[in-house]
Amino acid sequence: MIKRYRILVVSTPIGTLGSGEGGGVELTLVSMVAGLLIRGHELTILAKKGSSLPVDCQAATLKTFDGENQCSWQHGTRTELIQIPDNGLLPKFWGWVLQEQEKFDLILNLSYDWLPFWITPYVSTPIFHLVSMGSVSESMDRVINNVACWDQRRLAFHTRTQACDFALLQAPIIVGSGFDIDTYHFSLSPENHFGWVGRITPEKGLEDAAIVASRLGVKLKVWGLKENTSYANKVENSVPPGIINWEGFLPGTKLQKVLSSCQCLLNTPKWNEAFGNVTVEAMACGVPVLAYNRGGPGELVKSGINGWLVPPDDIMALTEVAYRIKDINRLRTRQWAKDNFSRSAFALRLETWFTAGLK
Ligand code: UDP
Repeated sequence: MIKRYRILVVSTPIGTLGSGEGGGVELTLVSMVAGLLIRGHELTILAKKGSSLPVDCQAATLKTFDGENQCSWQHGTRTELIQIPDNGLLPKFWGWVLQEQEKFDLILNLSYDWLPFWITPYVSTPIFHLVSMGSVSESMDRVINNVACWDQRRLAFHTRTQACDFALLQAPIIVGSGFDIDTYHFSLSPENHFGWVGRITPEKGLEDAAIVASRLGVKLKVWGLKENTSYANKVENSVPPGIINWEGFLPGTKLQKVLSSCQCLLNTPKWNEAFGNVTVEAMACGVPVLAYNRGGPGELVKSGINGWLVPPDDIMALTEVAYRIKDINRLRTRQWAKDNFSRSAFALRLETWFTAGLK
């Protein structure tokens, strides 16, 4: 008999759900909530005021707070000090957690921030952390490693490559991510452009994708939030006019409809990407992914099956595989995403993690 849990999910303290400011965590949250609801669990979510949830999460309780965003750790230096705004969302979320914790069987933290990791050993309701990034700061490394030392069962990661960034004493718990594959539009006849999806910021390496598209003389459609406009302008100016087509940030339901028009998705991160939702989302549309063999995409892209992997930062190799897109079967690509990253399998992996961690 499966135990039904009362789960409190603490969302990212960066932006409202649906804004894109929280990056991949937003989709991860929706997927996990929808998947866990289907499995009969009770869910409460803490998020920024103005957040919205899709219909398949409506059975969850959403509690919102007004407050200042946290700064993203990945945009600071490795020795950045821990900073928390006094009117910040982070202390508001966790103040509420400490007051209400007894009403829940477990707390699931999605924010990559010092405070929730630090308080974990001192809180009586078990706090679980789905770590959303690799190593980007020394103080975050230390606090995550401390939780690992204290009780590693409280930590899960998206990929093995991401988990390798931390000093773990046991084999990491890997939960991947999950997608409602049937909601992604599939097409066997793409248009004549490449795609790139993500937050537009240096760690995502858009400049390399732009060079590949310009070498082939193909348009590159770019979907995502411009987190850094001067960087976006610099990339645009680095290639001939008309190569980059800015498509803006689309809500998930719209992105699922347009991605299938791409011949391929170029995925060129410069950091140890924890997972890379956009790679599996493209695959869900049958779109082959051409990626650097670095971070999560290095585990998700299977050369010759759902795309091509090339050595990190090797723009020449990326250009060469762009001539081999047609060797990838789009139906098989979508099937691979379905077989490996369905929402239901994700929910089951999460449930298994909680059950083991609560023993
Ligand atoms: N995304 C979106 N609309 C856009 C572009 C991106 O909803 O126009 C979402 C995309 O679905 C994905 C997220 O942004 O879930 C990016 O997540 P990923 O894991 O690739 O990178 P992160 O931002 O977490 O580093």
